[in-house]
Amino acid sequence: MDLRGFRHVILDRDGVLNSEAEDSGYVRDPAEFHWLPGALEGLAILRRAGLYLSVATNQAGVGRGLVSLEQLAAIHARMQAEASAHGGGLDAVLVCPHAHEAQCACRKPAPGLIQEAITRSGITARESLVVGDDPRDLEAARRAGVAAALVRTGKGRQTEQLPRAAGVPVYDDLLQLARALAAGRPSVQ
Ligand SMILES: [Mg+2]
Ligand SMILES: [Zn+2]
Repeated sequence: MDLRGFRHVILDRDGVLNSEAEDSGYVRDPAEFHWLPGALEGLAILRRAGLYLSVATNQAGVGRGLVSLEQLAAIHARMQAEASAHGGGLDAVLVCPHAHEAQCACRKPAPGLIQEAITRSGITARESLVVGDDPRDLEAARRAGVAAALVRTGKGRQTEQLPRAAGVPVYDDLLQLARALAAGRPSVQ
């Protein structure tokens, strides 16, 4: 995959930016949001390389009544503030708050959230790259007609073994992917 054509990265959240919550599987409070090693640095590298940064995340805990919209807003405010403080501010954070049973069009593997990220960015699907750790991320990207890359954080090591991941480029973590994406690009600031 030629990484130089990408201008927009659509990042999954849990397992790519932060570690997945241990008990319920849902980050319910800003204090439970723990950045993965290298993730903040990776965001800063992507930003300096001039890439538009979206986050597209399934948060079924909201639809299941385990996380309130207020809690989710507080978690994302902290995520945004810390990313910005490290030079890796996020341009857009898109959430599917629906439970699986809702059968919505946005919950990955449906393509809705990825399509929304593309519309908001004003950058074409061809210049966008989905980065995830879960087969649902890969499937959502495929259905939206967007290229995908996998990281070996979160569920990434298991996902890498699946037939679905064949041909998908894999990186150890967001930092390694960011360095590969930034290679050969002029620094913006
Ligand atoms: Mg994930
Ligand atoms: Zn949804």
